[in-house]
Amino acid sequence: MPEKKYCIFCKLVEGKIPYYKVYEDKDFLAFLDIRPLNPGHTLVIPKKHYKWVWDVPNIDKYFKVTQKIANAIKEIMKTELIVSIIFGEAVQHAHVWLVPKFKGDGHPFGWLDMKNVKDISKKEMKEIAEKISKELKNKKKDKKLFLKHFNHRNNY
Ligand SMILES: [Zn+2]
Repeated sequence: MPEKKYCIFCKLVEGKIPYYKVYEDKDFLAFLDIRPLNPGHTLVIPKKHYKWVWDVPNIDKYFKVTQKIANAIKEIMKTELIVSIIFGEAVQHAHVWLVPKFKGDGHPFGWLDMKNVKDISKKEMKEIAEKISKELKNKKKDKKLFLKHFNHRNNY
């Protein structure tokens, strides 16, 4: 696939470009947008190169993962609203945008101002990514504990 060769997200998956990792599993990767419209602005992509989101075969899993990440961002960034957008033209490797919205963040009601890019230090970006990542890991642990408890109860 010649287009893959020049794809910035494929390079990122291959570890050729540094990024602020939020989540990773066998098939999907999430990281902070380096031009964040707000702190916590995250992109979720399939690791394999698909041009459009609607090309991803396991899209059910893709959206499940995206949901988990959106809820973790909600928790960490303390906001009710995560604007979720599927574009695709700028980088033609399937990706979903998750942008937390806040009161007084400079974005208009009901939309995002694409020029309103926030200046966030590398240190802060790293901290945000780590916090969301940690939140996702904790959620996983809670689920396991619950199952353990549940199975235990079933023994009686
Ligand atoms: Zn790609």
